[in-house]
Amino acid sequence: MTGLEIRGLRVSFDGFVAVDGVDLTVAPGDIRFLIGPNGAGKTTLVDAVTGLVKATGSVRFGDHELLGRPVHRIARLGVGRTFQTSSVFEGLTVLQNLDIAAGAGRGAWTMARRRRTVPVAVSEALETIGLAGRQDALAGTLAHGHKQWLEIGMLLVQNVDLLLLDEPVAGMSHEERDATGALLAAISAARTVVVIEHDMDFMRSFARTVTVLHAGRVLSEGTVAQVQADPRVQEVYLGT
Ligand code: ADP
Repeated sequence: MTGLEIRGLRVSFDGFVAVDGVDLTVAPGDIRFLIGPNGAGKTTLVDAVTGLVKATGSVRFGDHELLGRPVHRIARLGVGRTFQTSSVFEGLTVLQNLDIAAGAGRGAWTMARRRRTVPVAVSEALETIGLAGRQDALAGTLAHGHKQWLEIGMLLVQNVDLLLLDEPVAGMSHEERDATGALLAAISAARTVVVIEHDMDFMRSFARTVTVLHAGRVLSEGTVAQVQADPRVQEVYLGT
């Protein structure tokens, strides 16, 4: 398992500084929640880690410096993310989506290796995401929450070691939210996970560290109860 260490991360867009010297360490196998008001820099931070935007500072994942590498190289190092808008192939089945993702993953560089490893990985992923009974359903017919799980499954079959998830429970029912909690707990047992989240109840159930971003900087860090009690956090959320 590999940890994430971000030091002095800075991203600017035409002189506007969206991420302004962020330090963030996530231990191997931990889940870190990232919260903050709109425009705080959460998405930009994830974009920087995954190579979508240029940044300065340092982002180390295990032995590797990620900054300066192209998106596909970062993905090959085992870094995967989901977006708020689903990116599954709606016209293909759940199984076909997973097969395609497995083929694109770093575990399938040769056909020999692909034949040996992919079917196991796909069936394991189907079980983990709770969609084993829906493997032949068209992805476009899945409920919103199930699409999110499929997307996580598509990362799992790529042998991703670091998952960055953008509001995985947004728009979910209570049942789906609970199931997603169990899914995150299961996948984080062997992986490092960063989650952009708003849902305080959901985060509280994990009892993990929450990092609060505001105006591109780390404003506060601690348990959900600690950051909620922090007057600086109350000020940016409530304007009090
Ligand atoms: P969050 O995800 O916390 O809501 P973002 O990371 O999306 O915040 O945005 C942080 C700030 O950077 C915002 O002020 C946003 O308008 C700005 N920003 C994000 N992407 C770009 C871009 N491509 N060009 C210019 N400004 C951007």
